[in-house]
Amino acid sequence: MPKVLIHPATYDTAAQAVDRGFGLFPLKLKGKKVLIKPNVLRAAEPHEGIATHPALLRAVVERVESMGPASIIVGDNPGLFNYGANEEAFNSTGLMEAAKGYYRNIGNDSQKVEFNPAFMPTVSLSRAVRETDVIISLPKFKTHGLTVMTGCIKNSYGFLPGAQKAALHRAAGSSERFQEMLVDVFMLRIPDLFIVDAVVGMEGNGPASPDLREIGLILASDNGVSLDAVIAHMMGCEPDRLRFLRKANKAGLGAYDLSEIEIVGELKRLPGFKLPPFGGEFILTNQAIQTFIHNRTIMRPLADAALCTGCGTCVDQCPVSALSMQADQVPLVNADLCIACFCCQEICPEKAIALR
Ligand code: SF4
Ligand code: SF4
Repeated sequence: MPKVLIHPATYDTAAQAVDRGFGLFPLKLKGKKVLIKPNVLRAAEPHEGIATHPALLRAVVERVESMGPASIIVGDNPGLFNYGANEEAFNSTGLMEAAKGYYRNIGNDSQKVEFNPAFMPTVSLSRAVRETDVIISLPKFKTHGLTVMTGCIKNSYGFLPGAQKAALHRAAGSSERFQEMLVDVFMLRIPDLFIVDAVVGMEGNGPASPDLREIGLILASDNGVSLDAVIAHMMGCEPDRLRFLRKANKAGLGAYDLSEIEIVGELKRLPGFKLPPFGGEFILTNQAIQTFIHNRTIMRPLADAALCTGCGTCVDQCPVSALSMQADQVPLVNADLCIACFCCQEICPEKAIALR
């Protein structure tokens, strides 16, 4: 039976809750490569509650350090509004400092992997996700206009670098299909442990709403589906209303029926919790967001011949071989093949690639 820990916490006492989580869900980390992935939607101050709080990240990093891993990477690929601005987002949220030197830009090295052709035949996945032994996911307890809530499954969307997230938004087309697609991304590499920042959560029209909610909890589990079901219940949403939980359950990834989940701690609904409208109306009817997504999707990289040294790094790194070196030693993109991950822009040592 899957188990979910619900532990009282403040940001000052986060380490105690983290220790309890590691006690209940033991991981063997000695000699292992570990990736720790907070939720870094975009650049924001810690008090805005948009990203995982740095106190939780620091507590997890210190706990992992003490367990003798071979290496630690802390990284994420920020969302649509901050694609590629990984350092800026980590700095402003306080997560860079909390990462204690283990931060790495996981957006500038990726590889092509097969995906669900109903959305895209291939996606570009951060290489660190494939090449680490253990992944610890640190979601934030938040609402989301398209998926009602964001938690463990949604946090894995950040395994995809760059603006291909915009392309997938468009390929999905509806809230229901977007939720299904999220489960496909989650299944690319399911994290081994989830520790959720629910000390201060978010309600209303997340994932960047100003409506913060003092909850005073840290949640943990080694099953992201069951932990998301607990979050949904706390928000006042029956888990079986969420398409992504139904699909994940059907795929055998975990239970969402609370009678099939062992709760360690006290599970209570949050009274009067403000959910976003169901069905993704907020995002699907918001013209400004739709235009933004559209613009992201049609952007393509273009190398500046005056800056490019012809080193070929971008050509080698493109996960879908959309770049080729021309006779003048400047790369050119095949717009039909390009999936708008923009890894080439991130990795170019001369900053020669712009978006057009
Ligand atoms: S990585 Fe930059 S400098 Fe190197 S070939 Fe590509 S555009 Fe030119
Ligand atoms: S050309 Fe650049 S943006 Fe397009 S798929 Fe290749 S690496 Fe990604």
